[in-house]
Amino acid sequence: MKFTVDQETCIGCGSCESICSDVFELADDKSQVKTDPVPAEFEKCAVVAEKDCPVQAISHE
Ligand code: SF4
Repeated sequence: MKFTVDQETCIGCGSCESICSDVFELADDKSQVKTDPVPAEFEKCAVVAEKDCPVQAISHE
C-alpha cells in the first residue's frame, strides 16, 4: 500500500505519528510518510492512523 499525507490539509496534530510511528513522522509541523510502499506489517496501524486523522489528510491506494 502507498500512503499519502496531504500537506495542505495536515494540521500537524501528531496523532498519526503516535498511532503508527513506523510509517508517519512529523517534520516541520507536518506529517511525512517514512516508507513507500508501506510494508504489509505496518499497513494495519497506518489505516488506523488514517481513520483517526482529524482532518482526513491521509489517504492510501
Ligand atoms: S493525524 Fe492528520 S493532521 Fe494529524 S499530523 Fe497526522 S496527517 Fe497531520
